[in-house]
Parts: sequence; C-alpha cells; structure tokens
Amino acid sequence: MYSEAKEKSLYADGIKLLQKNQFEIEDIDLLKEVINFADYRYYVLSNSVFADVEYDTLFKALQKLEERFPNKITADSPTQRVAKGISEKFQTVAHLVPMLSLDNTYNADDLIDWDSRCKELSGLNEIEYCVEPKYDGASISLIYDHNQLQRGATRGDGIMGEEITPNIKQIRSIPLRANFSNNSLEQIEIRGEAIIHKEVFTQFNAQRISEGQQPLANPRNAASGTLRMLDSREVSKRRLSAVLYHVSYFSLKAGQVMPESLKTHYDTILLLHQNGFPTPINEMKRFRHIDEVIQFCHDFEAGRDHLPYEVDGLVIKVNSIALQEKMGMTAHHPRWAVAFKFKARQATSQLQRVEFQVGRTGSVTPVAKINPVAIGGVMVSSVSLFNEDVVREKDLYIGDVVLVERAGDVIPYIVKALPEMRTGKEIPIVFPTHCPDCGELLEKPEGEAVWRCINISCPSQVVERLAHFCSKDAMDIRGMGISNVKKFYELGILNDIPGLYRIDWRRVHSLEGFGEKSINNLQQAIEASKTQPLHRLIYGLGIRHVGETMAKTLAQAVSDISDFYSWTIENYLPLEDVGPKVGASVFDFFALAENREIIQSLVEAGLNTRCQKQGSEGTSATFSGKTFLFTGTLSQLKRSEAEAMVENLGGKIATSVSSKLNYLIVGNEAGSKLEKAKKLTTISILSEEQFLTLVHP
Ligand SMILES: [Zn+2]
Repeated sequence: MYSEAKEKSLYADGIKLLQKNQFEIEDIDLLKEVINFADYRYYVLSNSVFADVEYDTLFKALQKLEERFPNKITADSPTQRVAKGISEKFQTVAHLVPMLSLDNTYNADDLIDWDSRCKELSGLNEIEYCVEPKYDGASISLIYDHNQLQRGATRGDGIMGEEITPNIKQIRSIPLRANFSNNSLEQIEIRGEAIIHKEVFTQFNAQRISEGQQPLANPRNAASGTLRMLDSREVSKRRLSAVLYHVSYFSLKAGQVMPESLKTHYDTILLLHQNGFPTPINEMKRFRHIDEVIQFCHDFEAGRDHLPYEVDGLVIKVNSIALQEKMGMTAHHPRWAVAFKFKARQATSQLQRVEFQVGRTGSVTPVAKINPVAIGGVMVSSVSLFNEDVVREKDLYIGDVVLVERAGDVIPYIVKALPEMRTGKEIPIVFPTHCPDCGELLEKPEGEAVWRCINISCPSQVVERLAHFCSKDAMDIRGMGISNVKKFYELGILNDIPGLYRIDWRRVHSLEGFGEKSINNLQQAIEASKTQPLHRLIYGLGIRHVGETMAKTLAQAVSDISDFYSWTIENYLPLEDVGPKVGASVFDFFALAENREIIQSLVEAGLNTRCQKQGSEGTSATFSGKTFLFTGTLSQLKRSEAEAMVENLGGKIATSVSSKLNYLIVGNEAGSKLEKAKKLTTISILSEEQFLTLVHP
C-alpha cells in the first residue's frame, strides 16, 4: 500500500506535525494523510507507528481545524468516522449482484465430487483452486464510487440488504477512500465479513458481566447484532474487524481496458490488499489438485482453535474469473465455489439439574448440569444459564434434551431445548427464595433480572470477592485462585481483603500441599501487589458496575483513592461513560464506613492508593503506565540505558511478549520476539530511532 520511502516520509511528517503548537488551514491535507496512514498501520497491519496520545493529538488537531473551516471537510476525512448518534431505522437497498450462499461440503468425498463437476462443466483436466478461511461473522457489501466509500450494506436476504453505512464507518480497517493506483475503475462492489476477534469478544463479555449485563452468546451473533445497532456510537465501542474477500462487480471508466489484476480471484484480492483493504491474502492458498485442497482443509481444521478469530470452514473457489463466468450459478449457489464445513461445535445432551451459585455481588446464577458431552474436543458438563429470564425465555425444564454450543474459547451456552423430545416427565426449574449458601431471603430489585443475596457476610460472596481481588486483571496475586482462597477462608486464615496482608504463615506451613517454595511464591505475589496501579485496586474492590475500563476512568480522576470520600454523585457524572446508575453505585460504595475502613487498613499495609497522573511532572504521557521491551542489538544506546530511560519516564520494562506489552523496540538481528509481537494486534513495534523520538519529542 505504502512504499517504504512513503512510510518514512509520512512518519517524519507526523513527527513534524506533533511538534507544532498551532495548526493552520494548510495542515489539513497532511493531517488527513498521516492519520489515514496511522489507521492503516494500526487496523490493517496491526503494527502501529504512533503512540495513542500522539494519534489523539493529531486527530484532535484535525477536528479543530475542520470546525474552523467547515468547507474543508471531505467525506473521506478520518473525522467522518466519528459516530454521530442514532438513526431512525435502516433503508432497504438492492445489491448490485445477488449475494448467493455457498453450497456446503462436509468431507473429502464431497470435495472430490465437486472437483469432477467443475472439470465436466469447464471441459478442463486441471483447474486452479483458491482456498481461504470461511469467517464466522456477518456478511457485508461495500460500494466504492470513484474511489469513495459510497454505501455499506448487510446481506439481508441476498437480494435486498439494509444500508448501514454509518456503522460500516466504525470499522476502522475499512478505508473510506480506496486509492486504487490504477485509476480505471469507476465503481466496485466488494464483499466480505464483519468479525469480532476472540480476544475482543472475551474482554467485551467480561466487561458486560462485571456491569451486571448478560454476556453475548458468540462472536458471530455479536458481529451481526452490532452491525444492525441503530446507535453508531455503540458500534464503535464493539471494535469490529473486517475481512474483504470478493469483488462481485466493477465497472470501468470509458475507454479503459480490463486490468490484468482483475482476471483471477487471487489477483483481485491481491489488488485489494495492495490498496489498503483488510483481506485474507496471507491465509489464501492456491492448489491444482483436489487432493492438496483436501489435505489443506484437514490441516487447517486441526489448527482452528489457534486462530485469533472464529472460522466455521474454508471456501474453495475456481481461481480464473473467466472460468467462473463460464460455469455460472444455479438458482441458489455459484457453481464455481463451495464451502468445506468444519465439524459442528454443537451437541445435544440432557439437562439433569440446575445449581444456584452465589457470586461476589450476591447475584444468584442458575447453572445447568448436563450429561457430560464432548464439543469440539472439550468435555462440557456445566453451562451457565445467566438468570431467571433466560431460563423462562428458553422455556427449559429439568430432563429436557438441550442443544449446547461451544465456539472456540467462548464459554458454552444452551441454544435451545428440543420440546419434540419431551416425554412428559420433565420438571419445572424452581428458583430458590432463600440464599443457597447463607439462607438469607433473596431480593430482586425492580428492573433487574438477577436475584440477590444481600447478606454482605454471606460466605460465598466473601470468597468470591477475595478471589476477584486477587484475580489476574485486578491485583494479580498468583496462587490465590478460588480454591486456595476458599481453603484459607474456611480455616479462618483469611477473612477479608486486608487479611491478605497479615496472613499467619505458620498456619499455612502446617497445611498439606504448601511447601516452602509455594509459600515463598505466594508471599512474593502478595508483596508485589502492594505496588499495583490504583485502577487495579479500584477494580479489585469489586464495586458494582465498575469493570476494568470504568476503574481506569475513575483512577485517572483523582490523585488518591481517599479523594472519592468528599465526592457527591454530581462529581461522577461528567466522567466518560458514567451514568446515574454507575455514579450512585460508586458513591454508595465510598460512603459506607466499612469500605473506608477496609481502604484504611490497606493503606496501613502499604498498598499504593495514589494515581500516577498521565503527563504529570517527571513522567511522560507516552510512557506512564506503559510496558516496553527491547529485542536485538541497539546501535546508539546500551540496553540498560534504554531501559532506565523508560523507567525514568514512568514506563515499565516487560520480560516477555504478551498482550500486556505496549511497545517492542527492535534493534539489529531481532528474532522470535519480533515475530510473536507481529501477531499481537495491540503492540506498537518501533525502531531504535522511533523510540528516541518518543523519548525526546
Ligand atoms: Zn447468601
């Protein structure tokens, strides 16, 4: 898309722009170009060039200039992606070419039959096939007119879809302007799939659960539901991705001849790739023998769990477009393409009983116990039913035969009961009126779907709260998982959160399974938690409706946790994403004397309760709280010098490449760390020079 020289000059332009104090009308075009470049690197290549704050600075500069000079706003300006609000409803639009579904194959024999039919229809002995992943998301169609994104639509019934252009613009990897270098195209329709990466989906659901909402069933439903949301601001929060894998229509400008690059399927995708579109080009394979196709299908299926997104099969297409046109289509399917479907990740089983589990906020969750059944290689015997409404909606009875689905890393869920299998002996599911653990009368506040035990000392809640405090995303105290917490609690070694910091280790020594080494590790993990940043502590305290993101917002708003003691509800409302419900919940938490006592005990134990403000004296906004890792040999700095620079500016040095890493700085002869980092979408990969520019902007 960008030549190396162009990338360098755009990067230099970006740095120059960042050094400016004031922006003028003549900066608009360059700002757009640099931001589009940054978007492409981040969203398409997953390899960002600017730090988040730097990107925001450029973006805000462009927004301000456009406010001053509104006639300079163009439809392809990156600011035009900004979600505008709620649309009334979607218009129905006709597809330029019907979006047909694909015929399915399930095994090698089906593929061999299909190959024979293709040869028969074409009269050829050998056909080149293209194989690509079948993404499990929601189909989309995009029309670019004279390079400009004109319309985005859902598949609908294949003939008519819904126009969802404002939502499509929230998918940052989709270019608003297609700079087809070969300028012979007048109009082009591109098809593909909107998907949600597994990691994004898991985080999204964790957030929903922590805010007391129901999790979404699977990434596919989440993607298709998101595309059809009426409020594009909500869409932008869901972090959709896209893969574009088919050019379904194009028209040429008068007098232009068909470019070479549109003669095979592979080359059309390559053309899209070269023009900045997200495509499956790196996953695409070409084969001349169906045996090779079959082998590839089996290998790919075996590795499906390791992909960052969900696939439900592979698509095999005839590569030559002329041949595709010759073969044509039936009323339902094209004859030149077929789907190879992977084994279903659904199974039926019998619902044996329902257990009611008490969570850390006292919520009582029904959990279905089913006859153990293997789904996609994992035994499933326990499936959450979330709340009473879900049980009623799905009309479940004990004894029912139920359809269970498990998609990749996603938690299994019950799709539906099969009422036709009922014998008449099924029993209704009865919700308890009292807490199954402490016996307290359960309550269900108006407008909520969840029954709660409001006894704050209910043993299940105490154990869950402690385990939450120690969990990886909160204070990250390794070794204090739910089973150890429960054991310590039952033996009276640990009663509450401050108790973690005054455990009587002599008693732990006498327990079975706790050797010198594991006790040492535990002690170290507890000690290390004292220096965790404030937002982890706030999240760990388990305030209702406060997930990880909200905890960060809250932490950034104060210099010490005790600042909240003097806040009124009105102080919370201006914070991002805080509504009256969240505001009241946080206010109530800090108003309670018991909670203040807990915090006081934690201060006395030496825990950090202060917030390192971004951009405050001595630290840099780019570095504060961010993690850095160096790999390869640096030419201008010693490794130790570079690491000290990071730490002096408020950053941290990581020990390995993981999704927690923010920056990887690459010297000469970098090896596996670089390869690994390239696969993770969130890491910025910098050269030594770029790193120095961050240090001395
Ligand atoms: Zn209880």
